[in-house]
Parts: sequence; C-alpha cells; structure tokens
Amino acid sequence: GATLGVLGGGQLGRMFAHAAQSMGYFTAVLDADPTSPAGLVSHHHVRTGYEDPKGLAELAQLCAAVTTEFENVPAAALQKLARTLPVSPAGESVAIAQDRAAEKAHFVRCGVPCAPYAEITTPEQLAAVSADLLPGILKTARMGYDGKGQARVRTAAELAAAWDGMGRVACVLEKMLPLAHECSVIVARGRDGAIVNLPVQRNLHRDGILAVTEVHAGNVPASQAQQAVAAAQSVAQGLDYVGVLCVEFFVLEDGSLVVNEIAPRPHNSGHYSQNAMDVSQFELQVRCMAGLPLVQPRQHSAAVMLNLLGDLWFKDGAEAATPAWDQVLALPGTHLHLYGKAEAKPARKMGHLNVTAATPEQARAVALQAAAILGIAPF
Ligand code: ATP
Ligand code: MG
Ligand code: MG
Repeated sequence: GATLGVLGGGQLGRMFAHAAQSMGYFTAVLDADPTSPAGLVSHHHVRTGYEDPKGLAELAQLCAAVTTEFENVPAAALQKLARTLPVSPAGESVAIAQDRAAEKAHFVRCGVPCAPYAEITTPEQLAAVSADLLPGILKTARMGYDGKGQARVRTAAELAAAWDGMGRVACVLEKMLPLAHECSVIVARGRDGAIVNLPVQRNLHRDGILAVTEVHAGNVPASQAQQAVAAAQSVAQGLDYVGVLCVEFFVLEDGSLVVNEIAPRPHNSGHYSQNAMDVSQFELQVRCMAGLPLVQPRQHSAAVMLNLLGDLWFKDGAEAATPAWDQVLALPGTHLHLYGKAEAKPARKMGHLNVTAATPEQARAVALQAAAILGIAPF
C-alpha cells in the first residue's frame, strides 16, 4: 500500500491516520514529540521539527502525498514538499489561514462579510483606529488559537495598553459583535475542483474553546445555513483550495451571517462526522490527498459532540481518578474518542464524546445526561 503523510502529530493527525489506515494506507507523521498522539498510531514517525530539511526529505521519500493537521506549520515546508509530491492543502492557502489580516482580506475579495476590523502593526495605525470599532477584540495576527492571543478592549486607552501587553506584534482589532450563536461549515475540495460539504454545525464556545457542537436539521435557520454553505464554498474556491477546510461563522442577533475565521484542515467542530455521517471529515481528507472521488456525505443520525478537556481529570485542583466512562458508555448512542495524550492539563483537549440518536431531542437528552455524569456544564 501507499503511504500518506501528515505534518503534525496531534489528535487531528491521529484521527487522520485512523481513517487512512482503515482504507489500506500506511501513514507517516512528522512531529518532534516522541509521544505525539498521531506518531503513536502511525507506521512511520519522523521525529524532527517542521523546518528540518532532513526530516522533510525523509517524509517526502516515504510518502505518496502529504497533508497537515497543524495550522501553524511553516508554509515554506509545504511548498518544499510540493516540489516532489502532491500536498493538500497548498502552502499558499495555509499561509493565508495563518494570518488574520490576509485571511480577512481574502474574505473581502470573496465578497463574504466579516466583522469590521483594522490592521494594527504600527503606532500610527493604532492612533488612527475608528471609534466605531470599539468595544472590540484585539487579536494577534498570527499563532492564536483557543482564544489565546486575544484581549477584549472597550476604550482607545485599553486598546493601546493591550497592544503594548502583546509586545506590539502585528494584530487586528475586530469590532465586538452581538452574537446570537456560532456555527461552522466543513468543505472538501478535490484537485479537479469538485466540492462537497458537511452540514452546518452549531457550536458553543466556553472561555474561547469549543465546548459543544450540535448537528441536526434546524439547528441553524435554513436561510442562514444555506448562506453559510455558499460562503464556505466561495472561500474555498477563491483559494483554489485542495483538501478539507473549516469556515467558522457568527450569526448575529439581527440574523445576519458573518464569517469569523478559517482552519485549513479538519476541525474540532467536525468530529461528530466520525459517527453521524456516512463519510467523516478525516475520510474526506484522505480522499482529497489520494485523488479519490468526493461524494456528498449524508447524515444518518442527529449528533451532539462534547469536548473532553483535561479539567475533567481534576477535582478541586488535584488530579482525580479517570472520568466515569463506564456510566457514560451505558447511555445509548455514545461514542468515546480519546487521543492518547500522556498527561491531562486544564483546558487541554483530551478527547471527545459523540452522541448519536434517531432524533435531535434524543441526542440532546443523552448528551445532557453524559455532561451531568462528567461534570460538564449543561448547554
Ligand atoms: P480557534 O481555536 O477557533 O482557532 P481563535 O483563538 O482563533 O479560536 P476566534 O475564533 O477568533 O479565536 O475567537 C474565539 C471566540 O471568541 C469566538 O468563537 C467567539 O465566541 C468570540 N469572538 C471572537 N471574535 C468576536 C467578535 N468579533 N465579536 C464577538 N465575539 C467574538
Ligand atoms: Mg483560530
Ligand atoms: Mg475560532
């Protein structure tokens, strides 16, 4: 069998490896961490950093095609690999997703509305910020995730102080919008331009981290759902994107839809697809890489996904026993996914629980029972 490679050894790489292996591929992971979740389950583990020319050459030697699971992999590494083998997504697409200013400029180019914003890279730009953008959220242009690298600011003085606090790195200031709720759409686009999508996912974030995703018809009003799918498709097409792409949206209190950001890979909000769709987001990633046909996935069950953060392993600040999986798995339609991480830490993504059922009401009822058992706040 051919070997498919992934840059990054986190949980997304691990679930990619599982999907690739079930279709008969060998997998290779490039990650410096000898205990990375994906490295532990792959046939080959190249233990170097993303910029090590020897590691990249070894990966290229092993693989028929390469993808990434880590959003901040240097785009140059992908471009280097692309000289000798198919790489999806392309370094050029990943580079745009890595920079909030470039990302927003792309949304504007595609005619997809995003939050009003200003780039802040110089004191002059800071001084020129329009009062209309306040209160707002200052976000570092690069490297932020799970709400890290962000500060909420109400006044020009708070904005200046927050920018100083971030070391005056390149940032964008976004206007704080009144959110009714958040949703996301995952699309997969092949080298031939064929494009398919997963259904609209409704997402609940807590402390800047995804907590719950619910997917069933009616979770988002039909007109916004259609707009979100169309917007995700144009964002992917505008990049001439190849691979799996997640587009995050805000639905505002007035019902309008605004794009938030993109992730150039499978996404936490798409994990339900492992158990509720006939094709998962990871199988879509494999199909894109291997040049296999993309068919529109079909949802066969209503789904709720609960993220399992490291906090669940702690009680009153001290590490406690393993969560009560036996009680959770006694509930109908529960699917436990754990990432094999050596150590639980607060806010670390340790796994997720997919709940599937014949109806949205049942899925929700079981998910709320599971949440109560695990100590996850109700939603
Ligand atoms: P991710 O882990 O999804 O990559 P991130 O660190 O890139 O997260 P964002 O998606 O930019 O962060 O923001 C995190 C959350 O903060 C959003 O999901 C939303 O709940 C809130 N948020 C961000 N921007 C705005 C905004 N302009 N108005 C209101 N809320 C916002
Ligand atoms: Mg992000
Ligand atoms: Mg986000």
